[in-house]
Amino acid sequence: MARRLECHRCGYIWEYSGTFQKATCPSCSAKVPVERQSTEESLEDIAADYDLSVRELKEILRRVRPRKES
Ligand SMILES: [Zn+2]
Repeated sequence: MARRLECHRCGYIWEYSGTFQKATCPSCSAKVPVERQSTEESLEDIAADYDLSVRELKEILRRVRPRKES
């Protein structure tokens, strides 16, 4: 099943259907962790439950869980 990944470096979004834990961004070749991104995939379901847009929910989550600097 394909997952939607978002590159943390350039913001490129694409469908990843591989099985590796890290995908390579087609745009900038950055290594994007698949496991971590899969959490965001369920945001649409959470958003539906709470009647929020995914965008609003992501903003809330970023406030609660600031993005780690790597
Ligand atoms: Zn990228």
